[in-house]
Amino acid sequence: MTTVFSKIIAGEIPADVLYEDDICLAFRDINPKAPTHFLVIPKKEIVSLADLSDEDEAIVGRCVLVASQVAESEGLVGGYRLIANTREDGGQEVMHLHFHVLGGRKLGWPPG
Ligand code: AMP
Repeated sequence: MTTVFSKIIAGEIPADVLYEDDICLAFRDINPKAPTHFLVIPKKEIVSLADLSDEDEAIVGRCVLVASQVAESEGLVGGYRLIANTREDGGQEVMHLHFHVLGGRKLGWPPG
């Protein structure tokens, strides 16, 4: 399934890229929900966490590590939240696996 994120990976639409390697891409969310809000996505077209295969283990690990490293470079020393909205009940709108990193303010719990 081609999504807006595939177009960002292909460079067909612009994004505010924070980090890129062969496996994943981190860029700022276009509609931020916190002072710092960026997304980390695998370059491989994986629909969601619920669609992972065993072969995706290293890809997901890489994305989480990049989330941590970019959070540090963004100065989120006070903490942050890593979220992967998954399928309809999880509120997923873009059907390409993505990890939200939100920080820069005190975040409420539980989420809605
Ligand atoms: P989700 O609801 O978890 O699927 O979140 C999708 C996220 O992608 C939302 O927070 C959107 O603001 C974000 N988004 C959609 N299109 C773009 C884009 N072109 N560049 C950056 N972020 C985007």
